[in-house]
Amino acid sequence: MKRVTLHDKEFQVFIPHDEIQTIVKQVADEINGDFSALDEVVFLSVLNGSFMFTSDLVKNIDFSCEVSFVKLSSYQGTTTTGTVSELIGLSSSLKGKCVVVVEDIVDTGITLEKLYALISAHEPSRICVATFFFKPESYGKHIKIDYIGKSIPNDFVVGYGLDYDELGRNLKDVYKLVVEK
Ligand code: 5GP
Ligand code: MG
Ligand code: MG
Repeated sequence: MKRVTLHDKEFQVFIPHDEIQTIVKQVADEINGDFSALDEVVFLSVLNGSFMFTSDLVKNIDFSCEVSFVKLSSYQGTTTTGTVSELIGLSSSLKGKCVVVVEDIVDTGITLEKLYALISAHEPSRICVATFFFKPESYGKHIKIDYIGKSIPNDFVVGYGLDYDELGRNLKDVYKLVVEK
């Protein structure tokens, strides 16, 4: 089994590149069945993790669509002690359009919930969510995940855009942490 070391940890192949591509095509086919160019769809990729999934996904989309990229950035509020989230990098208007949020992984759903609220403020006609990975055992939110590439257990995965402390994003296969016995 192919292994990589990132920082202090060892990972082994979990999903090879070919299987990833099959999963991406399945997600794209579902989306192709649900929308057409008349829907004015914007694929909104959430950086950094979803850059590879977004690239492969939109290559398999068969209707005219926009592709845009955002980042969720946190900063300390000036009047409160909690952190505030901000959506940065949005390059086009979402007003009245169908937004398909493209995520690498939805775990607890905390990130998605914040994103959803920030995107809603731009008044799209509809928000859908597509994620490559979903961890059903940790998900604790009510937002519907419309398109799921693969549901996985609570293992830590890297590669195909996902990082372990910023390393591993460039790997074309997905790896999971080797748990020492
Ligand atoms: P959530 O807010 O849904 O709990 O977590 C979302 C974020 O946690 C993801 O965007 C990702 O950055 C990180 N995350 C959760 N699970 C994993 C994992 O298995 N591997 C990696 N690399 N990041 C993860
Ligand atoms: Mg993400
Ligand atoms: Mg990360």
